[in-house]
Amino acid sequence: MLNLNIDPSLAAQEGKLKRSQLIKAEALKQGFDLVGIARPQISEEENSFFDRWLSSGFAGSMQYISKNSDKRKNPYLILPSVKSVLCFGLNYYTKESTGPISNYAWGDDYHDVFLKKLNNFSLFLKSEFASHIETKEYVDTGPLLERSLAAQAGLGWIGKNTCLINKNQGSYFFLGEILTNLELAFDSPATDHCGSCTACLDACPTQAFTQSGILDSNKCISYLTIEYREEEFPEDLKDKMGHHFYGCDICQQACPWNSKAQPCDEKSFYPRDDFENPDLRKWQSMTEEEFHKKFRNSPMKRAKHKGLLRNIQRLIIKKPKVA
Ligand code: SF4
Ligand code: SF4
Repeated sequence: MLNLNIDPSLAAQEGKLKRSQLIKAEALKQGFDLVGIARPQISEEENSFFDRWLSSGFAGSMQYISKNSDKRKNPYLILPSVKSVLCFGLNYYTKESTGPISNYAWGDDYHDVFLKKLNNFSLFLKSEFASHIETKEYVDTGPLLERSLAAQAGLGWIGKNTCLINKNQGSYFFLGEILTNLELAFDSPATDHCGSCTACLDACPTQAFTQSGILDSNKCISYLTIEYREEEFPEDLKDKMGHHFYGCDICQQACPWNSKAQPCDEKSFYPRDDFENPDLRKWQSMTEEEFHKKFRNSPMKRAKHKGLLRNIQRLIIKKPKVA
């Protein structure tokens, strides 16, 4: 005789699993390189690490990080109905950067490109499951501890260089998330594969890591060339900043897991005109109007006209040795 006493919790679990599998398959079909699902919770350990990092002043002048720290530590404050966090990785690697601009900044602004993909994916979720489901999309555009969530979702582990590293793809990918009230099956976190390696810590020219996994942004070339707003760089750092004009890839280039990096499929991340090896003397005379034209839809507009001119000036006046 047919037993109709189906355990409802088992059926619900099966439903979550099926939905999750379908979502992951579709994500890969839509061109995301990594996808996983996290519980909408940040662990106590992660939260207290974040608090200690902030109170040590390691965020430098990036006040937007501390401004919404409650939300960063608690996704329910962003979307009260949240049940799952879909975490995505989008590869941006085109080739190793040897010039003064970080690889990620050669093409179009990833915020726009990635967010558009996530918005489209939310449309897919609504058409597939129910038009009234709630979603909230982020690409480094809101208060979310996205690396912690991505690690929980199994996309990779947080390496000693503070980047999220995937065993098969390295660390050259952007992270994005969709918070949703869909009930899904959570993935297991990836294991740590840094082992006894210290290549990234040893390679950093400004000794920006106070210890493994802890970055003092005040000393980081990426922070200094992008976020730092003072007219002059700190005296003790400017000669250590090498040829870097916008960003720095050294601690990623040093990482053995990045030997696995493959060129990305996203054409808009490939270098624009002269971005890979710019003639900075030409860029030096750029007016504010020309700046806005040249860096429209580029992540480099983040440094602002004034910041880019300051960065050029350090290189042209000091002519430092190539790092
Ligand atoms: S990005 Fe460059 S300066 Fe910043 S921590 Fe990495 S190696 Fe050091
Ligand atoms: S270089 Fe070594 S220690 Fe640093 S993140 Fe990569 S594997 Fe980890």
